[in-house]
Amino acid sequence: MLRIGCHLSISAGFTAMAKDALSIGAKTFQFFTRNPRGGSAKTIIQKDVDEFLRICRENDLSNFLAHAPYTMNICAADAGIRKFAHEMMIDDLGRMENLPGSLYNFHPGSHVQQGVEIGTRYIIDTLNDVLHPQMTTTVLLETMAGKGSEIGRTFEELRAIIDGVKLQEKMGVCLDTCHIYDAGYDIVQNLDGVLDEFDRIVGLNRLKAIHLNDSKNPFKSHKDRHETIGNGSIGLQTITRVVNHPKLRHLPFYLETPNELPGYADEIKLLKSVYQE
Ligand SMILES: [Zn+2]
Repeated sequence: MLRIGCHLSISAGFTAMAKDALSIGAKTFQFFTRNPRGGSAKTIIQKDVDEFLRICRENDLSNFLAHAPYTMNICAADAGIRKFAHEMMIDDLGRMENLPGSLYNFHPGSHVQQGVEIGTRYIIDTLNDVLHPQMTTTVLLETMAGKGSEIGRTFEELRAIIDGVKLQEKMGVCLDTCHIYDAGYDIVQNLDGVLDEFDRIVGLNRLKAIHLNDSKNPFKSHKDRHETIGNGSIGLQTITRVVNHPKLRHLPFYLETPNELPGYADEIKLLKSVYQE
């Protein structure tokens, strides 16, 4: 079974989100932990979470992926911004325990002229501070397109972060098809080669989730603009190979394409139709 879903809005609460997922044929989904541009998180209502978990259990909805706000930059040059991001992450990870065994994805951050090494050091320091042995969440580093001074544009940069983390069993990677294609990993011409490289440098055992997106821009453009499935430079043929690939097909897939619910429903239907059971 293809475990596919999309990004959903949490604004009406957890239960509403599970119902949205069911209405579009999703088997999983992603949501923001708080406003994507930052700000405070919604208060958790226990009744809402309980009802949500019941619906998910009864309908085989699983592999919930929480996405940290884009603005959370734990390797910022400014100490105040770093501290703010650090506290946001602690708060997010505390809330995540309401959904035990879930995934928490974040953009490693932008080093902004400090250089990759210093930025990487800040990321490692934060992770070593916020991860703890009792947590049930797996924290994912996202592969980035490499716009501006983003860290995580190469598999080596992700590996360097993981190498510095003490509780490595709490860490994983979320691979974004649009981002890696924009970053210069040619999944259209050489998907096997890219996956071999990922395995050699990061380890496929660390790959826990796929952001399934087409790209508005050409190969190696370092742009990060998602396109609907089949309408970008990656194309449906490659996307079909990705969801069916023996090394990927068991993973949860999350669409972050420019769509409202009906568009997501169509893409989920399309991808289920090309998936070889
Ligand atoms: Zn992301």
